[in-house]
Amino acid sequence: MSAATFEKGALSVHFGEKSGKYPDGNQVVVRGRDSKVAFDTPLVANRLGEALAGTDLVILGHMHEDHAAGLHLLPQARVVAHSADVEAVRSWDGLARHYGYAPEVLNDFRARIEREFHWTARPDAASYDDRASWDLGGTRVTAFHMPGHTSGHCVLLVEPEGVAFIGDIDLSSFGPYYGDATSSLEQFRHTLRAVREVPAKIWVTSHHKGVITDRATFLALLEAYAEKLDRREQAIAAYLGAHPSSLDELVAQRFLYPRGYELDFVDAAERRTTSQHLAALLAAGRVREDGGRYYALS
Ligand SMILES: [Zn+2]
Repeated sequence: MSAATFEKGALSVHFGEKSGKYPDGNQVVVRGRDSKVAFDTPLVANRLGEALAGTDLVILGHMHEDHAAGLHLLPQARVVAHSADVEAVRSWDGLARHYGYAPEVLNDFRARIEREFHWTARPDAASYDDRASWDLGGTRVTAFHMPGHTSGHCVLLVEPEGVAFIGDIDLSSFGPYYGDATSSLEQFRHTLRAVREVPAKIWVTSHHKGVITDRATFLALLEAYAEKLDRREQAIAAYLGAHPSSLDELVAQRFLYPRGYELDFVDAAERRTTSQHLAALLAAGRVREDGGRYYALS
C-alpha cells in the first residue's frame, strides 16, 4: 500500500515515489456515491490494491506512458481520453504517431514501455472533448482542454471539492515539456495563461509538486514555470548570436536536457523543442535562416 495520501471530500491523492517524480506519478481517485473514478494510472497504481480496485472509469488527462501504467490492472473499467489523444491510447500506431520518434527509436521505446510501464493498447478507449463532465453522485468532474504538453492534454476539475488535477502542467523546475510530435510550444504558452482561470482552490500535479493548497503559491510556481520557456528561447538566441548553427548543431547543444542524459527519446525531444523555438524566433524577427543555418539578428 502507498503510505502518503491527501484527502479532500470524495477525492484522494496517492503519491508516487519522490512525490511522483518521473517515471512515477501521483494517483488521484474520486469516489462518488455512484461511481469510482481514477485520473490517469501512474506506476504507483500498481501498489495501491484496494484503493484502486473496483474503479469504474479512468479519465486520462493526457496520454503518455507514465500516465497509463496501471491500465492493465483495470481491464473492466471504461477508459476515456480527449479526442486529440485517444488514438494514442487505442493502438501502438496511434501512440507512435503521438510521440513521432524515428522508427528505430520507436522499436526500443516500445520494448521499454512494455517492460517498465506495463503498456498495452486499449482499443476500447472512448473520447471526450472540452468541458465534458461526469456526475459521480455528489461530486462532478469537468475537463478543461489545455493543450501543449500533448494536443489532448486536459485539466480535470473536481467539484464541489474545488480541486484541479493539472497533470503535466507539472510546475517542476525542469519546466514545460513539449517535445513530442503532437506537443505545441504555442499552445503551451496559451495554456499557461488559461490554467489560471480554472476555478480551483487546490491544484494537484502528476509529478514533483503534488498538492498546492493556496493560490499565491500556485501562481508563483506557474510564473517560474512559464519563465523556463522564455529562458530556453533566450538561450537559443544567445547561442546563435555567437555561433550561427544548423538545427543538428543546436540539437547537439542540448537546450532542454542536460548533456549526458541520454534516454532513447532525448534526441527527438530536443529536435522538436528546438525547432519550435526557432519558429518562434523567426516569426519574431529575432533570427533568420539561410541555407539551413540560423543567424541571430540584433
Ligand atoms: Zn506527459
